[in-house]
Amino acid sequence: MADTAERAASGAEIQLESVTKRYSGTREPAVSDVTMTIPAGKIVILVGPSGCGKTTTMRMINRLIEPTSGTITIGGEDALSLNADDLRRRIGYAIQQAGLFPHFTVAQNIAVVPGLLGWDRRRIDDRVDEMMELVGLDPAEFRRRYPRQLSGGQQQRVGVARALAADPPVLLMDEPFGAVDPITRGHLQDELLRLQAELRKTIVFVTHDFDEAVKLGDKIAVLGDRSAILQYDTPEAILANPADDTVAGFVGAGASLKQLTLLRVRDVDYRDNAITAGSEESPAALRKRMTDEGRTYALVLDARRRPERWVHVRDLSSATSLAGVGRPVGDSVSTQSTLQDALEAILVEGGNAVVTGGRGEYLGTIDIRTVTDTIQQLRDEHDGGSAAP
Ligand code: ADP
Repeated sequence: MADTAERAASGAEIQLESVTKRYSGTREPAVSDVTMTIPAGKIVILVGPSGCGKTTTMRMINRLIEPTSGTITIGGEDALSLNADDLRRRIGYAIQQAGLFPHFTVAQNIAVVPGLLGWDRRRIDDRVDEMMELVGLDPAEFRRRYPRQLSGGQQQRVGVARALAADPPVLLMDEPFGAVDPITRGHLQDELLRLQAELRKTIVFVTHDFDEAVKLGDKIAVLGDRSAILQYDTPEAILANPADDTVAGFVGAGASLKQLTLLRVRDVDYRDNAITAGSEESPAALRKRMTDEGRTYALVLDARRRPERWVHVRDLSSATSLAGVGRPVGDSVSTQSTLQDALEAILVEGGNAVVTGGRGEYLGTIDIRTVTDTIQQLRDEHDGGSAAP
């Protein structure tokens, strides 16, 4: 991993200056006079209604679409004066439904750009394995599979691995998680954030989903017709102060609830607050510890301290051993998870969710109280800062 971080090209700043695109045979430009700076190493989200020009704007950056006028620079270099093929090899590109070549294996798909760049066989093989590990696919299992033999989420991971294979400073992502179910989408988003913490690429990400924008963006550009920039700011600033009614409408109801996607489990107090036991402990001893502390539930951990089961104090009076007592722990959350994800897990789990670390080990728990307190705090801060009674 340190190896990857060292070799990774850090992101490059992208500047669009008065960029316009007029498709032939159309009266109005699809994108009109857009000027914006996308800072190096950040995730910038282009969000707006369907047809507002998001995809056109993004594709002009790698010249899949040629601008009619204006200038685009990447890392200070004029993108329009570079050979378009060279440019595209320096810019990773991931799209909805991954856009994988169906007759290529996973490994061949990931190897496309390194192959075009003339890397030797050995280096490409190593890179394919490294990229697969990076996106959480076991090379031994998946290298030789074809895209149709993968789930939607796995295809999307391969798409991201392929986009990153040649270590480009810039990554363009066009609704990359639009076609997968909400739970898989949440996981892919978490993984993108984890990757980005390590890689620090400049990522331009198109979506029409404002919640996704809030979760992923360092900055969000809310676009109107012809890619007019209605507001370009951090998610916090847009949620707190939408620039106008159109943006407010797009942000939608429940802006304070949406702020839950800005907060992570690591921001709240979850630490080691459950009564835990190893399955070798005697039920009587655990029961005593629980009654002493006035607790009704305890968490049984396995030998590697991974959460196994919740036991109720009344399960213990008749039990002869902790093995097999209680109900299995369901969905857990990580310290990276958003409070929104945690809230979902808490509701599914019926009261609280277990927080686990990188190896699945128990760190603590988070309950509905923590989340409601956080919402209350956000609301107080918001009310404190506004003139409304
Ligand atoms: P978005 O990504 O926000 O949905 P697009 O950039 O795809 O929007 O499209 C912006 C506008 O340009 C739309 O009105 C669309 O119909 C139009 N458009 C897109 N591609 C073409 C094309 N090849 N020829 C003519 N018009 C196009």
